[in-house]
Amino acid sequence: MAVSNAVDGSGGRGSTAAPWRNWAGNVTARPARTVTPASTEELAAAVRAAAADGLTVKAAGTGHSFTPAAATDGLLVRPERLTGVRAVDRAAGTVTVAAGTPLKRLNETLSAHGLSLTNMGDIMEQTVSGAVSTGTHGTGRDSASLAAQISGLQLVTADGSVLTCSAEENPDVFAAARLGLGALGVISELTFAVEPEFLLTAREEPMPFDEVTGRFDELVAENEHFEFYWFPHTGNCNTKRNNRSQGPAAPPGRISGWVEDELLSNGVFQVACAVGRALPAAIPGIARISSRALSARTYTDIPYKVFTSPRRVRFVEMEYALPRAAAVAALGELKALVERSDFKISFPVEVRTAPADDLPLSTASGRDTVYVAVHMYRGTPHEAYFAAAERIMTAHGGRPHWGKLHTRDAAYLAAAYPRFGEFTAVRDRLDPDRRFGNAYLRRVLGD
Ligand SMILES: Cc1cc2nc3c(=O)[nH]c(=O)nc-3n(C[C@H](O)[C@H](O)[C@H](O)COP(=O)(O)OP(=O)(O)OC[C@H]3O[C@@H](n4cnc5c(N)ncnc54)[C@H](O)[C@@H]3O)c2cc1C
Repeated sequence: MAVSNAVDGSGGRGSTAAPWRNWAGNVTARPARTVTPASTEELAAAVRAAAADGLTVKAAGTGHSFTPAAATDGLLVRPERLTGVRAVDRAAGTVTVAAGTPLKRLNETLSAHGLSLTNMGDIMEQTVSGAVSTGTHGTGRDSASLAAQISGLQLVTADGSVLTCSAEENPDVFAAARLGLGALGVISELTFAVEPEFLLTAREEPMPFDEVTGRFDELVAENEHFEFYWFPHTGNCNTKRNNRSQGPAAPPGRISGWVEDELLSNGVFQVACAVGRALPAAIPGIARISSRALSARTYTDIPYKVFTSPRRVRFVEMEYALPRAAAVAALGELKALVERSDFKISFPVEVRTAPADDLPLSTASGRDTVYVAVHMYRGTPHEAYFAAAERIMTAHGGRPHWGKLHTRDAAYLAAAYPRFGEFTAVRDRLDPDRRFGNAYLRRVLGD
């Protein structure tokens, strides 16, 4: 077993750890020690050694959660060496990867084999296991989150044994552990159902808020993947429609792609956010200009190049999953909130959809869903805006993204998720001593 800062002669105990920070910089943890296993066997040995020493255990991905979901003062399992493709089965349409594999590497490997995931989120820096464990999703009329695309997994449980799970093998654990919040064990590998690589045509187009909300049902119904961004302090939105295409591929030109994706969405946006942080009164004016800077464009490319883009400007985020029928009303209330308040919001509000799925703790569990995400530039006070937005979302029966900021507790979540008890029963059976517990899980799942 390799460890991050010591030669390992530790019997799976690993090294004394440096503090751990998440991507947004709003969560810091001080684990008692760290391990970086390279195999399922090394991972199981590390869990057994932690249990023998009375330490709790948390696996971290790349720390892209805004909640302290991966924070621990016990043993921190780092993902860096538990990576790589373990099997590609073209006939079955599956690929098996080690739990710490970054989504970027999964996507690139799939593409090299002429395969693709069906749907994915906005970025691909996260690990596969971190992404599925909090319900990472993109937007889709028919296709759901990453966790819903899993057909099998391997889980190291509290006593260090290895459980193989699928719809046929340990089906109750499989149902829960696909989106398990790290509460049931440490995932060592995941199998995704994949499909032959296809092309997507993206159409990005500015649209007024009133039009996009007025036509929302139609836009969702007519497109395989519809999403939009609303720019607070304005009536402007940018819409994006992705649909499968026969081709040919026509990626954005190198220069125009760089202007849109790097210069405007990252470079200029970073400067605009920094100016807004120093001079909040300038934000509405900046929003009016920047909401007009992105122009209409159409391009066709392989899926991960259409779904994902670089996100270099650091922010904090809260996202709620609403019943689809409540979305337009909630968005109207959010817009009215910004108009009547003193909040100065430099980040757009992102709106996406998902079909109902069958995962107990999925934010889309059992209901067609619209996601509404609010963001604030890092270092800007976000609490009052997020609290006011959260009141709107919870009044509509919203479920918070498990990896994004929220203030909900187990009592609220038990009422929001009809199958909550099914999940906690599996947790009680697999981890009665809460080897995989932390403060976040105590809040959202209970003791
Ligand atoms: C810039 C940015 C863009 C984002 N875009 C999207 C998006 O488009 N859609 C969306 O839904 N979310 C998005 N997110 C949220 C992000 O996808 C999730 O928070 C995701 O969980 C992060 O994955 P990670 O690898 O960083 O895991 P971490 O945040 O490090 O960990 C997340 C959880 O997974 C658990 N975990 C990690 N590895 C294992 C393992 N091996 N076994 C068991 N549990 C494990 C951790 O304990 C923790 O509970 C975004 C976040 C950022 C910062």
